[in-house]
Amino acid sequence: MKILLTGGAGYIGSHTAVALHEAGFEPVVLDDFSNSHPAVMDRLARLTGRPVALERGSVLDTEWLEGVLRRHAPAAVVHFAGVKAVGESVAQPLKYFRINIEGAISLLRAMESVHLGPQPPGPPMLVFSGSATVYGDPARMPITEDFPLSHTNPYAHSKRVIEEMLQAVCLAQPLWRVGVLRYFNPVGAHPSGLIGEDPAGIPNNLMPYVAQVAVGRRPSLTVFGNDYPTPDGTGQRDYIHVQDLAEGHVAALRALLAGTGSFTVNLGTGRPSSVLEVVRAFEQASGRPVPVQIGPRRPGDIARCWADPSLAERLLGWKARLGLEAMCADAWRWQSGNPQGYAD
Ligand code: UDP
Repeated sequence: MKILLTGGAGYIGSHTAVALHEAGFEPVVLDDFSNSHPAVMDRLARLTGRPVALERGSVLDTEWLEGVLRRHAPAAVVHFAGVKAVGESVAQPLKYFRINIEGAISLLRAMESVHLGPQPPGPPMLVFSGSATVYGDPARMPITEDFPLSHTNPYAHSKRVIEEMLQAVCLAQPLWRVGVLRYFNPVGAHPSGLIGEDPAGIPNNLMPYVAQVAVGRRPSLTVFGNDYPTPDGTGQRDYIHVQDLAEGHVAALRALLAGTGSFTVNLGTGRPSSVLEVVRAFEQASGRPVPVQIGPRRPGDIARCWADPSLAERLLGWKARLGLEAMCADAWRWQSGNPQGYAD
């Protein structure tokens, strides 16, 4: 059974492709490599023991997407393709609205014309890469899915608009089956060290930055504020191993294929870690020092953010298994084996 992964060569997409292969599905990767590396495809072939089908192009091209859907007739689509840097989204909001929102509209239109036209291959089924940023800065922790939504930047705004579009589409045409997965903070890498996160330029996110300090690419980490109302003063997040996240997609697809109606769930561990806890765990896992300096708060950052992941367990039978130690050990294996990422 084929599953089409838009953005399948990216960080989360590539790990999900391997998890789907292991679960007996046939992943088809669709990517324009605008923020990923073609070398991922060779790594995927090594991990799955066979070439993984690739469709190279942009989700903005609706007609081409229709052709891809007709050619492969996938049972479902997982929509990862999009831009994801919060800071960049503040500086370039239109890029975020165009690629994320127009991209989703383009995919939904292509799916609609193939699945709701004459001789449909099956009902339209979609798993969407959502984000915990749609909760804004919640007053309480842990976060459940019924918390009010708000956004503090165009990236989060785009994710929220797409969720609302998906709801409207499901309301208009009940044949649609849609699973929205609100990711918390994905980190780590495949335990083989063959695939991992390879951000272009200076990493925005904590774990890849820490990994690059440990491997000697950068001199030190700047901790963005140590005066938050948290136990050690640094920001707390719900880091989730990308392998657990990949399994979450498999569980979501299985649920949709089994006929579950549409759903929206958090994918997190439910356990917060502070910036300094991550740094210590990484030093432990790598055996390398990670020098830190304390800097000012990063504008727009929130103090705390972690999930109540119990709905995903109830609905999908999915639960995160891996802790911070495994996240750091696997991120380190990837980083130390590929100091320059896929360019090595
Ligand atoms: N952080 C930091 N230095 C960095 C990058 C991140 O101190 O170079 C902190 C950040 O302030 C937050 C946590 O690490 O408290 C996670 O940041 P990230 O950007 O990875 O995730 P997000 O803030 O989007 O949840």
